[in-house]
Amino acid sequence: MLHHDIVVVGAGLAGQRAALAAARAGHDVAVVSKLHPLRSHSGAAQGGINAAIGAEDSVDTHIFDTVKGSDYLGDQDAIEFFCQQAGPTVIEMEHFGTIFSRGDDGSLARRAFGGAGFPRTIYAADRTGLALLQGIFEHLSTETIRIYDEWFLLSIVVREGRVQGITAFDRKSGQIEGIVAKAVIVATGPAGRIYGRTTNAHSCTGDGIAAAYRAGANLKDMEFVQFHPTALLESSILITEGARGEGGIMKNALGERFMTRYAPHVLDLASRDVVSRAIVTEVKSGRGFPGGYVTLELMHLGKEKIESRLQEICDFSRAFAGVDPVTEPIPVFPAQHYMMGGIGTNMQGETNVPGLYAAGEAACVSIHGANRLGGNSLLETLVFGKQAGVAAAAYVSGAPESRLAPTDLERETGHFLALRARTEGESPRVLRTELQQTMDQSVGIYRDPDDLYRALRKVRELQERNRNVHVVDPATTYNLDLTDALEVGHLLDLAEVIVVGAIARTESRGAHTRVDFPARDDKNWMKHTIARWTSGGPELSYAPVAYTRWDPTERVY
Ligand SMILES: Cc1cc2nc3c(=O)[nH]c(=O)nc-3n(C[C@H](O)[C@H](O)[C@H](O)COP(=O)(O)OP(=O)(O)OC[C@H]3O[C@@H](n4cnc5c(N)ncnc54)[C@H](O)[C@@H]3O)c2cc1C
Repeated sequence: MLHHDIVVVGAGLAGQRAALAAARAGHDVAVVSKLHPLRSHSGAAQGGINAAIGAEDSVDTHIFDTVKGSDYLGDQDAIEFFCQQAGPTVIEMEHFGTIFSRGDDGSLARRAFGGAGFPRTIYAADRTGLALLQGIFEHLSTETIRIYDEWFLLSIVVREGRVQGITAFDRKSGQIEGIVAKAVIVATGPAGRIYGRTTNAHSCTGDGIAAAYRAGANLKDMEFVQFHPTALLESSILITEGARGEGGIMKNALGERFMTRYAPHVLDLASRDVVSRAIVTEVKSGRGFPGGYVTLELMHLGKEKIESRLQEICDFSRAFAGVDPVTEPIPVFPAQHYMMGGIGTNMQGETNVPGLYAAGEAACVSIHGANRLGGNSLLETLVFGKQAGVAAAAYVSGAPESRLAPTDLERETGHFLALRARTEGESPRVLRTELQQTMDQSVGIYRDPDDLYRALRKVRELQERNRNVHVVDPATTYNLDLTDALEVGHLLDLAEVIVVGAIARTESRGAHTRVDFPARDDKNWMKHTIARWTSGGPELSYAPVAYTRWDPTERVY
């Protein structure tokens, strides 16, 4: 059995920032990650990170844009704190060594992003996530933090009303290990692979959210799923909002700049829920290109700007869609991109389980409410990653010793042995594909109640079939077939929470659009959905939204 004061699960930006804060408070910190830290999905972030710096912009405008973007479901106290931390956070990252792009006068370059009243997205070309990750990883390496990479979280152990540690599977040795810890910080990132059409990496399977849910943590607002308007047609690889921020425009098959119909003031730079609905409406109304898509044009920006500011998306378009953005329009359609929901936390990253913390995309504070603004998520990982690290450090100083019982490991080992002993059964890949097709078809941008109920029946059927999941590959080390089987169970659990929450919420708000309830209903639905695990499925309850200064008004862009 291994021992640490604090275990951070996940080594993306949120996990690394949390680990750094906890270690600098003088604690023995370990990081457990199923990937090498630099391969975390944070490294795929393209467009940038928001901060109101410079004389013309203001923190108050950033706060207002975020509140409005959230369709008034974001907690305003948390949003205020978050936006106030933005400037210092970006400057700290620069001091950590992140090389941001510069304007002609040498100051930090900023680009326009959707739903923002001012161009406040700071970037490193179109590789911002990687630049941030590299900067912070160098600093992590200067601390005595133990990193267990290629270790896969299996369970969070909660006993006597508090966290005792985790169990994990070492992919390199094939062994199941226990790590005793007083506090666990979950920073396992996105769960986008619940959908087939997603910009998220294959590793984004919501493992930590599912483990926390099973351990008794409340999940918050899971029905709010963001679809990014511009993903490459077939591969769903992201074409950053930065492309529109640099001046890119979308057109339908009639050559119309269709956003004039949906967001007459800011056009292509309306918030993501608005633009994604617009694209789907255009295609459904027969104004899309054959095969169902619209185009994003960058040609007018000129070769030099496209290739310097948007180099990565040039490479992606050429390699994966066979089009050269310098001379041709890029075919795009919305794809799942971000989960507004996650493990419910307060501003300190605390969950309802003592000793359990969460940060980053796995968490829901909530600052994004019903719709996240582009550029706010990278910022969230750093601001609330640090908060969680500081809070966990303070907690472990006064917490009693933790203990893992032999039965904690035996339970996981028994489960594994049963899985490996099975000689036939369901393929994890088939289960995952059927889930993804169901979610793509029935729990997308526009949500019809019949489709939602059909999806729920299908998810429950798949959960039943998953009890008999079969791992074909007998390998004991680096067995991806085995981790696929574990991940599909997590995807199914979270899909169930999304669908149950979406059925219950009889209104349209942010990214959740019910065709039978097309209006926002502040009287009945200005509240967070809370889901708690029970053996019979998620049990829902509701929690109030925190207000400070902004009364809900109609959202127009
Ligand atoms: C293509 C793309 C582009 C984006 N661009 C932007 C952008 O420009 N601006 C912006 O603000 N946001 C952007 N986002 C969103 C933003 O990048 C993410 O929300 C954020 O980086 C998530 O960081 P994280 O630290 O929470 O998780 P991640 O970076 O995904 O890290 C998760 C970590 O958890 C570990 N992990 C997962 N499961 C397990 C397990 N079972 N056991 C052990 N470890 C586990 C992984 O190994 C990884 O280290 C983008 C997202 C995508 C997908």
